[in-house]
Amino acid sequence: VQRTVTVGSRSESVRQANLSVILRGLHLSGAATRSDLVASSGLTRSAVGALVGELTDMGFVYEQRSQSDGSPGRPSPRVRVVTDHVTIAMEVLVDSLAVAVVSLGGHVLDRRRIDLARDEIPVEATVHELGTLTIELLQALPDTLVIHGVGVAIAGVVRRSEQSVIVAPNIGWRDVPLGELIQCALPIDVPVVIANDGDLGALAEVRRGVATGMSDVVYISGEVGVGAGVITDGRPLGGAEGFAGEVGHIPVNPGGLPCRCGSTGCWETEVGEQALLRRVGRPPGGGRAVVDEILAAAAIGDPDVLAAMDAHGRWLGFGLAGIINTFDPDVVVMGGLFARLHPFVSEALESELDRRVFDVVRQQVGVLPSGLGLDGPLLGAAEWAWERVLSDPAAAGRPRSWAI
Ligand SMILES: [Zn+2]
Repeated sequence: VQRTVTVGSRSESVRQANLSVILRGLHLSGAATRSDLVASSGLTRSAVGALVGELTDMGFVYEQRSQSDGSPGRPSPRVRVVTDHVTIAMEVLVDSLAVAVVSLGGHVLDRRRIDLARDEIPVEATVHELGTLTIELLQALPDTLVIHGVGVAIAGVVRRSEQSVIVAPNIGWRDVPLGELIQCALPIDVPVVIANDGDLGALAEVRRGVATGMSDVVYISGEVGVGAGVITDGRPLGGAEGFAGEVGHIPVNPGGLPCRCGSTGCWETEVGEQALLRRVGRPPGGGRAVVDEILAAAAIGDPDVLAAMDAHGRWLGFGLAGIINTFDPDVVVMGGLFARLHPFVSEALESELDRRVFDVVRQQVGVLPSGLGLDGPLLGAAEWAWERVLSDPAAAGRPRSWAI
């Protein structure tokens, strides 16, 4: 939710807030005429003109007169972001690492993802690999790019104030100062910010995905673990220690299986990838290739696989009903593996919701597959890195030295 500040006050904070509103709008919604910006910001035409002029001087935007559309009169110039400004997004998952270079405006200029064996990944090797991938990507891109920061999504619980990982049970990490380590591994002197992959998946959905503009959103993503992010009233739910929103570890089955968090019968043990393999009679482990086979069998109507999907969908609905009754979201977004399962589990899932969710809430809540694919949390990591620039463009606009 953006709040504009009326001009009139000469204070620096008003100017900062207004520059932020204009640049954020162009970053999230794309090119706009000055009239569009007046309408969307609520600022006066002369204020918008001055702010666009300042952002142009800082090098963040330019104005381009579009081609005539044939109607009489000259078309209005459109204000656009300069896509030489970039952030670097990174993702650390149980079975893959990814790095992307993302421009102002949210375009992915290039990305790499490498698969890893599903095992505990040593911290040093991970950081080294992330550094190498980043340098390879940057060397293949024009050297005019201005890098503003690095955002990292990790499948673990994060202490944002210290840019460190408290615990990542599925990767086997505990108390890792990841931000500092990544900063040391890069030949660029820019801030590194870290957040939980579920939280960043949710951020990507409200900024660029199926939950765009919504203020109450639950994002769940199933891989080896179940990641989640909860946004209430426009803010990510953090909790006192950063563990809030870890809905994969809601206990749902008193007689259930051990979970990697140390408890038993967590929702993750009933709806994670291992549970799906168990239901279709596959040995544990497996990996993405086996999941692809199961999805292919479901697509051609294999009755055993469809029955397993039904059971899986009921457990998904059972847990989601509790989450929906607790948070009353506008939408639940299913990311990662859950987005791929959605067509096969939605009927059983929805019927559990019909049975268990408060009527009034049930009527308005939607459960939608993410449209961002596997890269959702990566896009969220880029957005997280952009936040410093978007909230204070004047402070971030000074050029930063970097060399590869
Ligand atoms: Zn657990």
